[in-house]
Amino acid sequence: MKTILSYLRPHAPRVAVGVTIKFTAAVLELLLPLLLAHIIDDCVPTRDLAAIRQAGGLMLLMAFGAAFCNITANRMAAWVSMDMTRQLRHDLYRRTLTLSQAQMDRFSVSSLVSRLTNDTYNVHQMFDKIQRGGIRAPMLVLGGLTLTFFQAPPLALVQLAVCSATFFAIWLVTRQGIPRYTKAQEAVDTVVRIIRENASGVRVIKALACQNRERARFTAASCSARQTEETAGCVMAAANPLSDFLLNLGLVLVVLAGALLVNHGRMASGQIVAFLSYFTLIQTATLGLAKLFVKFSKGVASARRIEEVLLSPEGQPVRCLPEERPDGPELGMEDVSFSYLGVEKDLDGASFYLNKGETLGILGPTGSGKSTLVSLLLRLYDAGQGLVWVGGQNVTALSREDLRGRFGAVFQSEALLNDSVYENISFLRDLPREDVIAAAKTAQAWDFIQAMPQGLDARLDIRGANLSGGQRQRLLIARALAARPDILVLDSADSALDYRTAAALHAAIRRDCPGVTLVVISERVASLRDADRILVLEDGVITAQGRHDELLEGCRRYRRMAELQMGGLK
Ligand code: ADP
Ligand code: MG
Repeated sequence: MKTILSYLRPHAPRVAVGVTIKFTAAVLELLLPLLLAHIIDDCVPTRDLAAIRQAGGLMLLMAFGAAFCNITANRMAAWVSMDMTRQLRHDLYRRTLTLSQAQMDRFSVSSLVSRLTNDTYNVHQMFDKIQRGGIRAPMLVLGGLTLTFFQAPPLALVQLAVCSATFFAIWLVTRQGIPRYTKAQEAVDTVVRIIRENASGVRVIKALACQNRERARFTAASCSARQTEETAGCVMAAANPLSDFLLNLGLVLVVLAGALLVNHGRMASGQIVAFLSYFTLIQTATLGLAKLFVKFSKGVASARRIEEVLLSPEGQPVRCLPEERPDGPELGMEDVSFSYLGVEKDLDGASFYLNKGETLGILGPTGSGKSTLVSLLLRLYDAGQGLVWVGGQNVTALSREDLRGRFGAVFQSEALLNDSVYENISFLRDLPREDVIAAAKTAQAWDFIQAMPQGLDARLDIRGANLSGGQRQRLLIARALAARPDILVLDSADSALDYRTAAALHAAIRRDCPGVTLVVISERVASLRDADRILVLEDGVITAQGRHDELLEGCRRYRRMAELQMGGLK
């Protein structure tokens, strides 16, 4: 909570002014019933019109003053909480972007999104409501009770009892209700997710004729959403009637007890009216206070979730290990093992070397650890054991910017932006248009870009939906090439390209980017046959490595794949 509170510090002067204004408003509100009692008890019986006018005028002035003060202070509270939440969201977003891949996996993307949206909103609400009601409500309750206590202790006790009951009743109801509403919200999220999945996968659903199953899935989710909403609604339905009932009960008790006191000559009748005003004031403030507590506990829980991300250790520091060789290979691994979850090894004892400008091919079935190997080269994860070399240095001795600046990479699941073709290739790097065009030409994307109505400035739909799979892949390759990287990683980047385009792509990269070190992951032998070194991966283990012809001779599995895919050995 300390970190989140520190976001309030720069706004301390504004908060102090706001609190002072709220304080003034509360004092004015507390004085009003006293003036009312004065008019009824002192001025009305003597028919002193001048005094009535004077006191009435003063009451009006005070009521206006209180309203004005409350509006001003509420606006200030809104500004402060908006400003601090904006800064908090900004910092949280920046931290999210710098989380290591392992931290990302641990938090999960959906949880990070909800921390950035729901949790920052809850913190905003907490600070806003505390500034608005945190001073006013307790002051009205305590001030009201104290003032009535000095005038008629029995009535003050009645008020105290009723408002304590109200506080606990509302607190209990909302505490029970809010988790149910959260559940209902989650159920609605599920319904939305199913609708989205169905809308985007409508072709597959129709093709596989599973409309009925999808309809059943939707109905089940929708029914569950309705049920959770119903239970939440049932609990919360008690809140307002209960508080109204307690307010009415209190008013009746105050009038009854007051009438008894008046009868015994221990109280003036005007005071009953003042007490009724106080009681309404106290009761409303109590309600506000109970709701404030709920907002507060939600806000604190959210603040903790945000702090968890903000205070997570800055992953992967630069470390110069003693075993670091000044002149390692351009790219390589030495007995590297790695496990995502620490259970079984997803990469086991990997070793290979590659010189600058050479091509590394990685071949292996799905799940064999091809992407994992590349993730370790990019230091998206730290290898559990062994050494990883990039640009002649141990990756742990390179800063994140240094390391990632050398790479251009295309991964399997990358999204295109709902923006122009140029922006999708330049990708927030403000690259010159000539570079973007050159990259598009190398990536075999220029022909279809030119054929689009506005060429480079043509707009893509969300996730590039107006392009074919192969066109999307070529745009992503152009994006990876555009900043002229030293090392280019293509992770199954040609899976949607026909053999001829894939071959033209590989030839163009070699022709247009001399000196680039290439890492090509593919399930096609044809894409790898010209590589200087091909790694054959199985279950996280490099079972064979060498050139195409060497592997054809020495690796049975490779030969079989080549036979199956190319129909001959060549
Ligand atoms: P490939 O790219 O060869 O298809 P991967 O390198 O993606 O395979 O995956 C290798 C293994 O690691 C698989 O068993 C996969 O389930 C596991 N794996 C991949 N990514 C993660 C992750 N983020 N968390 C846990 N396990 C993972
Ligand atoms: Mg993969």
